Amino acid sequence: DAKRSGKNRYNFYDGSKNHNTVQRLDIENNMRQAVASQIHEFVVFYQPVVDTVTKKCMSCEALVRWDSKALGFMGPGDFIPLAEYLGLITDIGDYVLEEACRQCKIWNDKGYKDFHINVNLSVVQLLQQNVVENVGRILSRTGVNPRNIVLEITESFAINDMERVLKIISGLKALGPRIALDDFGTGYSSLNYIKQLPLNIIKVDKTFIDDIVEDEYAQAFVKLIVDLSKTIGTQIVVEGIEDIEQYNLLKEIGVNYIQGYYFGKPVPANQFEFEYLGKVLNDNK
Ligand code: C2E
Ligand code: MG
Ligand code: MG
Ligand code: MG
Repeated sequence: DAKRSGKNRYNFYDGSKNHNTVQRLDIENNMRQAVASQIHEFVVFYQPVVDTVTKKCMSCEALVRWDSKALGFMGPGDFIPLAEYLGLITDIGDYVLEEACRQCKIWNDKGYKDFHINVNLSVVQLLQQNVVENVGRILSRTGVNPRNIVLEITESFAINDMERVLKIISGLKALGPRIALDDFGTGYSSLNYIKQLPLNIIKVDKTFIDDIVEDEYAQAFVKLIVDLSKTIGTQIVVEGIEDIEQYNLLKEIGVNYIQGYYFGKPVPANQFEFEYLGKVLNDNK
């Protein structure tokens, strides 16, 4: 597919900085049009999360891509910041949530009863007036078991009114989904949030894993989070595992769930079902 090979590929990492005005208007117009009338250009990929004890894949993360007819195939880093800036992220995010909920129900109905899917919520989406009603409507419309949905939030809400954020997250949790704190260890990370928020899962960011085999500080950090999580009763997922050394080390530290290229990259739903759904994965790649 020539479209995917890079010619038409945009690499905008920031919605406001890394491109000129003409390009930006082009992507902006195309995004408005796609959201208004070609929402199916947004495609949801799924990346396996693996249990380090059983090696089984019983969950995944939904990750959006934009397969734009006009601009080519783009990853989230290329368009999410602009979508947030333009206020289009809620429409895109609602679409991703709905797709993921439908897919989760299909897989649950195929016999993978406890399989669950993680979905990212942008802080812009999280702070929408009617976010709890919106998410509730999507959950009931799709008929998914809400317990099988995990909502991932990042610490970027920290710059906002904490009381309000807490109320929203509690409202979302009351609908049934579990709550994960994404990208922990980056940005505004503070142990204070872990204490205040009703979290079920903490996802440790890839930046801590990149040099974990050599870096004792990174090892100590992950150990600390594992111990803390046992005390407060949250699960830990470590992101960005790319090789067997990292995998073995994290397993030894006591990390129960792992997500990374070592087990699999994000793939379309049909490929995910074929390669990963409910399977025991080989760790001798
Ligand atoms: P994230 O939520 O932290 O998702 C994990 C990202 O790390 C994904 O990138 C995934 O492909 C990548 N990753 C996982 N394992 C490895 C690895 O072993 N090596 C490397 N190099 N990368 C790995 P992706 O799909 O490009 O998504 C980037 C970010 O875009 C996500 O980070 C999330 O913040 C955002 N995003 C993706 N989909 C959505 C969405 O539907 N809504 C919102 N609001 N944000 C989304
Ligand atoms: Mg995430
Ligand atoms: Mg993350
Ligand atoms: Mg990230």
